[in-house]
Amino acid sequence: MNILYFVVPCYNEQEVLSETVSRLTAKLNSLIESKKIDEQSRIVFVDDGSKDATWEMITRFCENDHHIQGIKLSRNRGHQNALLGGLMTVKEHCDFCISLDADLQDDIDAVDRFIEKYQGGCDIVYGVRSSRETDTSFKRTTALAFYKLMKGLGVDIVYNHADYRLMSKRALYSLSEFGEVNLFLRGMVPLVGYKSDIVEYKRHERFAGQSKYPLKKMLAFAFDGITSFSVRPIRMVLWLGVSIFFISLLVFAYALACFVLRITVPGWTTIVASIWALGGIQLLAFGIIGEYIGKIYKEVKKRPNYVIEQYLK
Ligand code: UDP
Ligand code: MG
Repeated sequence: MNILYFVVPCYNEQEVLSETVSRLTAKLNSLIESKKIDEQSRIVFVDDGSKDATWEMITRFCENDHHIQGIKLSRNRGHQNALLGGLMTVKEHCDFCISLDADLQDDIDAVDRFIEKYQGGCDIVYGVRSSRETDTSFKRTTALAFYKLMKGLGVDIVYNHADYRLMSKRALYSLSEFGEVNLFLRGMVPLVGYKSDIVEYKRHERFAGQSKYPLKKMLAFAFDGITSFSVRPIRMVLWLGVSIFFISLLVFAYALACFVLRITVPGWTTIVASIWALGGIQLLAFGIIGEYIGKIYKEVKKRPNYVIEQYLK
């Protein structure tokens, strides 16, 4: 009942990988020795189409240590897809798994507390950052605004939780039934349900190398999160339309009154202003609706989220 698989997505992580492997194997061995987990437990590195020596390094680690496995995706598909690829591959072999980043930002020592919660009957344990002091104030503010916005839109996400989490076998199987293509695992996992809990940990600085999440990717991820999980923006467009309809009735009455009183000429400003305002609002509405149509388009195509090229055991 105690086979643990670590799932670690990696994209161009050659600078940090050796250190990650040594720390994770040390952790795995100590857990095995203290009989908290089974000897058949493994660490699985998912190479997300790296362009540097990441896969060669993973291959070498696999040869040297039977506790290490590697999955190679056929190309770069982004962190969420790589993670899902790893989780869906290991679900058959493990009793529970823990996903974490390759850059050692997630505190590995929190794993013991994850396991205690799992053994106490939790199917999902969320790693929650106790503080964001290692972040820039920009990242801190935007992250908080994002969580608030998601909550406001009615999406159930765990505050300050990224993708450092434990999932039991049955939670993984339940997750596998979600047929979505637009992945936002932080929003999907809470929908799986079951008993869950959180473990607080201190998030470190990236051990080495550069962040693979520049601002552009981060914004795209946040936007994806919102539009994949909430239809409220569409409803807001509807209410906006309704309000503008009523306002336009008033404007119509006003225009009619002006016409009757023969003071129509100085109406140029009003007309120009309303054309611009309506044009702007319409474009905004089209933009939001277009985003959803784009999502429907992607879902309908049912493209696979990842293609596994190789699985080294
Ligand atoms: N990652 C990935 N595919 C990508 C980008 C990132 O698998 O296209 C992995 C990366 O190797 C790391 C994790 O996702 O293990 C988180 O990325 P990163 O640390 O760069 O993000 P940050 O912590 O800066 O948000
Ligand atoms: Mg990181």
